[in-house]
Amino acid sequence: MTTIRFTGPDIPSAEDLANCIHCGFCLPSCPTYVATGQELESPRGRLHLISGIRDGRIEGTPRALEHLDLCLQCRACETACPSAVPYGRIMEDARAAIMANEPAEQPPAWRLRRLALRHVLARPRRLRLAMAGARLYQRSGLQHFVRGPLAPLLPSALRRLEAAAPVLRGRPFRQTGTLASPPAPKARVAMLLGCLHGEMYPDMHRATVTALEHARCEVVAPPAQVCCGALHAHAGDAETARALARRNIDAFERAGVEAVVVNAAGCGAAMKEYSRLLRHDPNWSQRAEAFSTRVKDALEFVAEQDFAHDLGPVDRTVTLQDACHLAHAQGIRTAPRAILGAIPGVTLREMANSDRCCGSAGLYSAVQPQMSAHVLEPKMASIAATGATTVCTANPGCTLQLETGARRHEVDAEVRHVIEVLAESIEAGRSR
Ligand code: SF4
Ligand code: SF4
Repeated sequence: MTTIRFTGPDIPSAEDLANCIHCGFCLPSCPTYVATGQELESPRGRLHLISGIRDGRIEGTPRALEHLDLCLQCRACETACPSAVPYGRIMEDARAAIMANEPAEQPPAWRLRRLALRHVLARPRRLRLAMAGARLYQRSGLQHFVRGPLAPLLPSALRRLEAAAPVLRGRPFRQTGTLASPPAPKARVAMLLGCLHGEMYPDMHRATVTALEHARCEVVAPPAQVCCGALHAHAGDAETARALARRNIDAFERAGVEAVVVNAAGCGAAMKEYSRLLRHDPNWSQRAEAFSTRVKDALEFVAEQDFAHDLGPVDRTVTLQDACHLAHAQGIRTAPRAILGAIPGVTLREMANSDRCCGSAGLYSAVQPQMSAHVLEPKMASIAATGATTVCTANPGCTLQLETGARRHEVDAEVRHVIEVLAESIEAGRSR
């Protein structure tokens, strides 16, 4: 690979790029700029690069593409920007326009990532097989051996990757069909099961069903639903993201529901943007538009319902990590706080920079481990300073990253989705 140019249907638009007035207000909010102090690792620098590659003023060399790859796509710069620069879609388009080149011209690491995402994450059977292998690895004692006597023989990158693997607890959540059917339901909603989090964090799904049922919603999970495609879109594989979006729209339309409830902020943000993803497709653009208006983050949806009745006490001191794709991409900040504030016994202690990325960012912690660890460090210090013993999130990727951080930095706090704490309170109310 030498230099690359943007090609295909997703080239970043000149109008989007022209919104940037180069003021630099976004710089202090950018984790990679804060970590490096380098203009090229800032939103403004990356916008300049993208604009230059687009117009042929700057060559798309491997080094230039590294600056784009180091972006977490956390979208904190969007919140900070006074000029409404749609940074998230500019970066997503830039990556798609790079990956629309012939395979031999694509950056090799990006190509590998796309292969893994296409052939594992988007394929439920293969993914389940991989997760069954991981479960066997953890439960057979092999992990103990790898982390013990074998550890000094392993390359450090592999050791780091292994140490960041989630602890797979309990049975995976794979139920489809009707999940809850309370008497005289106020609404009928569908739940996204997602590709990974029902395998990694099944209790999040169980808690979401409990909370929705408590709010008197009938809950269904269409069996034909698939991965939301967020990670594919972030990695520049717009083609696979569009294919997955079409399958989901079809599956959820058939369910005949008022809302599609999503308990992973990254997935919800992507599904709210299906309308943009499919804007060039005359057969799907209107359906995508209608679908996206029905997508709701689980906390956003529950906070709008009658959820605060008959709650029991939960003795927890909590701090809240605002998931980037909840706070910055979806603009949701009050719902998680309203829910936590309604739970008797919960004390919320806000951390400094709660909406600063934790370094998870989808696959980022695996492909950019050093920067990810760098970004995680101040986050864990902010958490420790609150003295909270529970860290609440709204995204499984953040949960995984914060669990890794708690182990690495010896912070004595467990990580829970806000909806899990609510479900605990509902259960406590039921058993009174
Ligand atoms: S998305 Fe996040 S990491 Fe990327 S430029 Fe914006 S603030 Fe920085
Ligand atoms: S992205 Fe927004 S905040 Fe950042 S330099 Fe451009 S106009 Fe200013």
